[in-house]
Amino acid sequence: MRTVSTQLESYVAGSWFRGTDGGEPVLDAVTGDEVTRVSSHGLDFAALVTHARQVGGPAVRRLTFHERATLLKELALHLGGHKDDFYAVSLRTGATRRDSMVDIDGGIGTLFSYASKGKRELPNDTVVLDGAPEPLGKGGTFLGQHLYTSRTGVAVQINAFNFPVWGMLEKLAPAFLAGLPSIVKPGSQTAYLTEAVVRQIIASDILPAGSLQLVCGSAGTLLDELGEQDSVAFTGSAHTAELLRNHPSVLHRGVRLGVEADSLNCSILGPDVTTQDEEFDLFVKGVVTEMTVKAGQKCTAIRRVIVPEPIADAVVDAISARLGRITVGDPADQSVRMGALASLGQRDEVRKAIEALRTSAEIVYGDPAHVDVVGADAERGAFLSPVLLRARPGAAEPHEVEPFGPVSTVLIYGPVHEAIELAARGRGSLVASLVTHDPQVAREVARGLAPWHGRLLILDRDDAAESTGHGSPLPMLVHGGPGRAGGGEELGGTRAVLHHMQRTAVQGSPDMLTAITGRWTTGSRRVLDGVHPFRKSLAELRIGDTVETASRTVTRDDIDHFAEFTGDTFYAHTDPEAAAANPFFGGIVAHGYLVVSLAAGLFVEPNPGPVLANFGVDNLRFLTPVKAGDTIRVSLTVKQLTPRSSADYGEVRWDATVTNQDDEQVATYDVLTLVAKTATRTATEG
Ligand code: NDP
Repeated sequence: MRTVSTQLESYVAGSWFRGTDGGEPVLDAVTGDEVTRVSSHGLDFAALVTHARQVGGPAVRRLTFHERATLLKELALHLGGHKDDFYAVSLRTGATRRDSMVDIDGGIGTLFSYASKGKRELPNDTVVLDGAPEPLGKGGTFLGQHLYTSRTGVAVQINAFNFPVWGMLEKLAPAFLAGLPSIVKPGSQTAYLTEAVVRQIIASDILPAGSLQLVCGSAGTLLDELGEQDSVAFTGSAHTAELLRNHPSVLHRGVRLGVEADSLNCSILGPDVTTQDEEFDLFVKGVVTEMTVKAGQKCTAIRRVIVPEPIADAVVDAISARLGRITVGDPADQSVRMGALASLGQRDEVRKAIEALRTSAEIVYGDPAHVDVVGADAERGAFLSPVLLRARPGAAEPHEVEPFGPVSTVLIYGPVHEAIELAARGRGSLVASLVTHDPQVAREVARGLAPWHGRLLILDRDDAAESTGHGSPLPMLVHGGPGRAGGGEELGGTRAVLHHMQRTAVQGSPDMLTAITGRWTTGSRRVLDGVHPFRKSLAELRIGDTVETASRTVTRDDIDHFAEFTGDTFYAHTDPEAAAANPFFGGIVAHGYLVVSLAAGLFVEPNPGPVLANFGVDNLRFLTPVKAGDTIRVSLTVKQLTPRSSADYGEVRWDATVTNQDDEQVATYDVLTLVAKTATRTATEG
């Protein structure tokens, strides 16, 4: 087993720093023995922030999104190779192997996911364009374009004790991808696992210097050092969230604060479900899983179990029966299904919360004062029995008190709107699940719940096998909820990256916007140098390179032939009388796809060369109908160049504009091709 050092260290300005006052002891959740000591006493918080701003930030921002994504993937692979060490340390937090998977593999999986999204969904550049240019004048010489740039500050990440690995990586990955250096401050109770992972990250030398620093121990004066370009992403208690919201740096210096705090998440059983339905078992299993994974210490755990009155007894019995099969004890023991809470202090807190809940609810399963424990001492370790309560009608406490442990309360509803009202009494939650096989129930309840929740799971027999479950935040979906849940938003794919960036509306001429954005803007200069751009490699192509094609007159024979050949004999292309009555066409018109095909015939350069493939078109619009006798031609212009870092080719986006003999636009679209990075000699070139 990997040992933890006797005192944790912070990583500041490229060196490891040990608190100067000996530190506070951190106890093993299972044995009560001292694991290590933690302190940030004497840490130079000003130097920490300055290093992030002056060394880390510039180093990350020099890289493109794709280069940052490549590093995240390398990091994920590297950490994956050290998982056994992390699992061993994680046992001391009270986590079972299944709990550690959620934390450790979940964290590494989030890195992989952001690495892949960074490459697929962000440009190989350092800015992101938001939407299309907005024309602001009739002549097309004045446009607006929204643009995201990396903020020049630091991303401070203050995490709770319950997910020492995932909590760090799910915040670090989007911040890094966005071009920001991170300062990570883990919850002290489990900071030794975060420290172990950070040591591996630093040792790997994968991330640029200064892009990741660590504070073990109190956050001290860290927030005092922050200003307008900085942000704080916080997960933890509502109490600390309140302190941070009122911090002068947040109130007066524009520090962006994202909060993920208490959440009284619920699971609702639909009124359509009987004890015979598959959905009944799915519901019961879901509740028990959420009560026991991480011993219920999850911000997404189900605290309120909302069930229809007629079936309530059956639900209580079924959940209790399943809870009866949960073995509690030393997480290293193979037979144990639920480990310890993070600390004895946390157990006291949960016991207090259960007492508060008992004012309006009765315990129907479990004893907060006693639990049979396998392989450990029930008092030295922070063990607690799962506890199920059943609320009395009109109960208030289940909607107010968050027992951060293996505790849930059953609440009963009559008509379905009552279920929605009960859920809303939580005043905003991270997630709710609804178990129903009735689409009408799903529609009514989901629309009622959505304003109060960040994520909804609708579970039934059809999606159960693939469902990722109620409690799992996913990198591609938003994590965060309104109101009491903190009002923050994390993850959600590239949304979380953009949260770290500044959106700016840039106004100017097309040429200026092209220069600033690196993407050709309609109306910009087109470059005609006599060389067909299909003869140029990615290295030779420049934004604005254009081919202006010859023209071609479309005949009725062309239209008839295309209709017959493809089978597209829609009346507007084949039946003169019917076509004449069509309000848009007033007669036979060419197929839109014929126009696009003819356009390809006009702009193509047919010989083997650097263009390797056409992989699609975007934003295709047919603007003016083409009739027999009309003459069309095409302007094809390089709009965007995206070299792929892991291949010897890249993507070229071309602006295609098809016009007719009157210079009216017939069709506009983006052609997407793959082009070799460098010119290769081909057979025809000898
Ligand atoms: P805290 O809010 O006490 O701590 C969360 C993080 O904030 C820790 O890293 C903590 O550091 C840090 N912190 C504490 N005070 C300050 C401060 N003044 N300035 C800056 N940072 C600060 O929550 P805990 O993790 O201790 O959990 C307590 C309770 O919060 C739980 O019992 C549970 O009810 C709730 N909770 C809710 C979660 C959710 O997402 N819904 C997640 C985790 C907890 P340090 O550890 O060093 O004090």
